[in-house]
Amino acid sequence: MKPNKLALILALALTACASPAAPAMTGAETVTDVPPVTAVPLAPVTQPETTLAPETTTAPETTAAPVTTAAPETTAAPTHTIEVIDGVTYIDGVLIVNKTYALPADYPQKSLTTEALNAYWTMKQAAAADGLTIKSISDYRSYYDQRYIYNNYVARDGQAAADRYSARPGHSEHQSGLAIDINSTAFDFDTTPEGQWLATHCAEYGFVIRYPKDKEAITGYMYEPWHVRYVGKDLAAKLYLGDGEFTTLEEYFGITSVYAD
Ligand SMILES: [Zn+2]
Repeated sequence: MKPNKLALILALALTACASPAAPAMTGAETVTDVPPVTAVPLAPVTQPETTLAPETTTAPETTAAPVTTAAPETTAAPTHTIEVIDGVTYIDGVLIVNKTYALPADYPQKSLTTEALNAYWTMKQAAAADGLTIKSISDYRSYYDQRYIYNNYVARDGQAAADRYSARPGHSEHQSGLAIDINSTAFDFDTTPEGQWLATHCAEYGFVIRYPKDKEAITGYMYEPWHVRYVGKDLAAKLYLGDGEFTTLEEYFGITSVYAD
């Protein structure tokens, strides 16, 4: 913001400089054209400098300042607060794990969080009331569990392919105790009644489909209709777009999900 303001003032200062220069030159020309008037050259040179300079410098400061400061405030400050506590990143109090933000290997959570677990059971019962069976096939994973899984995928498919569907150790949401894989890791899970129920109802229980369809460039992961992340009901309601569609934490908070190396 400051450089913009400075640039503006400088630009105006330059135009301010240019305008006194012009009269000075015409004054000089008049001097050469009209040699008899010897007192004239001194007057125009001193006059424009003192009269024009204050007028142009005070004017831009009052008019330009509000314009340049107002614009960055609305665009650059989306009012999200990023905190890093014990190596864990929180944005507006929401724990973030993705390819950009990692969890320490010794992150103390060793199971689903109580909130996530309770929300899961409530959701499971609601699904049962609708005649559907929702079950966790994978939830908490330690850093070392993830390292083992990831390394196996890399050995099988190569790192580039593995990075599209499996997190590197420290980068898995499952290590946070806030993520659950539901029922099946088949890509057509979203065509099953359970998959459709999950997408349309999980936000009511505080979960989001964390890696939505066509968002791989944003989340860093292929579509995973089975992977839900607990974010709490308030945030889940904001991320839910209706019709089983979700916006991502990356879009909502304006963050990236890219490995540093
Ligand atoms: Zn998962």
